[in-house]
Amino acid sequence: MYYIFNQKKIFMYFLETEQYQHLEKELLEIIHLFHSRGWSMATSTNYSFRNPSPNETTYTISRSGVDKLQFKKDDFMLIDAEGVALPIHQNIKSSAETLLHTYLYENLATQCVLHTHSKSSTIYSLIHQKDKVVKITGFELLKGIRNVGSHEAEIKIPIFQNSQDMKQLVREITAYYDRNPETYGFLLAGHGLYAWGNSIAEAKRHTETFEFLFDCLLDIYKMQKTKD
Ligand SMILES: [Zn+2]
Repeated sequence: MYYIFNQKKIFMYFLETEQYQHLEKELLEIIHLFHSRGWSMATSTNYSFRNPSPNETTYTISRSGVDKLQFKKDDFMLIDAEGVALPIHQNIKSSAETLLHTYLYENLATQCVLHTHSKSSTIYSLIHQKDKVVKITGFELLKGIRNVGSHEAEIKIPIFQNSQDMKQLVREITAYYDRNPETYGFLLAGHGLYAWGNSIAEAKRHTETFEFLFDCLLDIYKMQKTKD
């Protein structure tokens, strides 16, 4: 009991630190921006970052069921490495997809995870779900991805079947990323995109890059269909 009381108090101070508030503000602005682009409709999507020192093994994540247009600082919550709410937020529910975030933090040294439900990533992932992995090349904007220096590079994005069984999904994702740690995003078929990075800014850049590429590829697909 004393431990829980003490932990709550420690985190109340932590949430007021300048470093924490800076990260919180940065992510809040991205949530509003992504909503304005139509990437997070109907209370969907979730967003998180790794908490700064000395609490790097805990995470801040958007709580479940909040309209992202109205999203505010109080709608963030703290979770541990297992996705369980910390005592300071013990009565708040996180998204069912929290386990996907904690997997990425615990296994890929990630600092920020952004999950969008854009129309393009939803449709693109449905069209290509049988391919399991898509390869993309020939776009200047590929350089938005970490360590990609040329439009001639080829990136791969895996597509996993959508599921409500997060533990099973984590097993499938683990099997892929154990072999391909240099991929900074994946699609869930008919669902949306997960992207991450070593900072909030990099996760945003990766998300924007992937979303732009799926927009382009979908337009090309439609043009080819009308030609056929
Ligand atoms: Zn989702």
